[in-house]
Amino acid sequence: MVSVDFKIVGDDRGAYYEESERALIFLSKHESLEDIYKTITHELIHHCINKFNITLDEDQEESLIFQMSWAEFSLN
Ligand SMILES: [Zn+2]
Repeated sequence: MVSVDFKIVGDDRGAYYEESERALIFLSKHESLEDIYKTITHELIHHCINKFNITLDEDQEESLIFQMSWAEFSLN
């Protein structure tokens, strides 16, 4: 089961650790609550990809999540 923890300061917006199934959200890198929700979604998609044993390198995984995030606009 995935867990999400919040930290005040970090170098990135968030991180997902597949070994521990844990996402960290770094609050100081966000501008609003909506922004934080987007990062949580981003990190949970990493978790879903991990759970389905899909083989992607880091660049492919980030590109897939980016495309998913913009799908509503790019498919219209
Ligand atoms: Zn990512």
